[in-house]
Amino acid sequence: MNFSDLASNPHRRFNPLTREWVLVSPQRIQRPWQGQVEEVPPEATLAYDPTCYLCPGNTRAGGVRNPAYTETFVFDNDFAALKPDTPQAEFHERELLVARSEAGRCRVVCFSPRHDLTMARMNVPELRHVVDAWTQEFSALASDPHTNSVQIFENRGAIMGCSNPHPHGQIWADETLPNELSRELTAFRDYRQAHGTTLLQDYLDLELEKQERLVCANDHFVVLVPFWAVWPFETLLISRRPVSALDELHNDERTALADILRQTTIRYDNLFLTSFPYTMGFHQRPTDGADYPEFHLHAHFYPPLLRSATIKKFIVGYEMLAMPQRDLTAESAARWLRDVPAERYC
Ligand code: ZN
Repeated sequence: MNFSDLASNPHRRFNPLTREWVLVSPQRIQRPWQGQVEEVPPEATLAYDPTCYLCPGNTRAGGVRNPAYTETFVFDNDFAALKPDTPQAEFHERELLVARSEAGRCRVVCFSPRHDLTMARMNVPELRHVVDAWTQEFSALASDPHTNSVQIFENRGAIMGCSNPHPHGQIWADETLPNELSRELTAFRDYRQAHGTTLLQDYLDLELEKQERLVCANDHFVVLVPFWAVWPFETLLISRRPVSALDELHNDERTALADILRQTTIRYDNLFLTSFPYTMGFHQRPTDGADYPEFHLHAHFYPPLLRSATIKKFIVGYEMLAMPQRDLTAESAARWLRDVPAERYC
């Protein structure tokens, strides 16, 4: 099949990171699309909210008072899903009822003391503080012998189940590898054995050559809509240098990461003229102390919006029972994101 045939005919695309397929049905989006907004969800307008448990100086659940922080602020989640003192236990009944204990830690990272900011509204020096906080946390958690993986992520927007608009993210440290990381690690490992490079290094080269799925870039990072994207405006952020985690980034690469996060989130906001909701997170090497030259640092952005601020993609029906499916091609989505200004206008 020719690549041009893919643009108008149903086909499957392969995700080499997870080894899953996505069904693409481009013929279903024939009509021209307009990024109109029917209704803009309310946004935070106060720089300081006395009722917010993340604002500086306010009291959180359990009576702990936040310091008067001026850049970032990191603390243990008051309602942690994982706890460091979880007793070791295993449960087996034949191979049908299987469970095991999972120890870990959940941290919260406030990106800014300002309640009304988002990544798109923060400047590069401010976002650099966030990158530094993530890196510091990654290193500290990685040095704990009980932590074998660190998941850094952000849920942005009420639609993604984020109850507080104060700019913040989470870090969950696990004793074992979560499913996604485990799948990617296998793919990275096999690819390195076969080719001697990282899977994303070669994929990035291919995308830089083809150009059609690129969204934005700087000297050290590239953001693109992956060929196998499931979410309409899903993007993949890849480091140009094949490092395995944030702690290997040099000073100028950390600043470049802050810059590319700003560029990406501004494009998202400009696309629908609203504070764009998403789940984003980094995938990094396991933290069991071993070397993982096959692993390549990257971040995934998974936004739920399809055509406007109120039309959302649902994973239902065929997608729950069979496989993921999309109508908008990765190439069209990349074009939309590339064509909106990189400077904020909403
Ligand atoms: Zn990944």
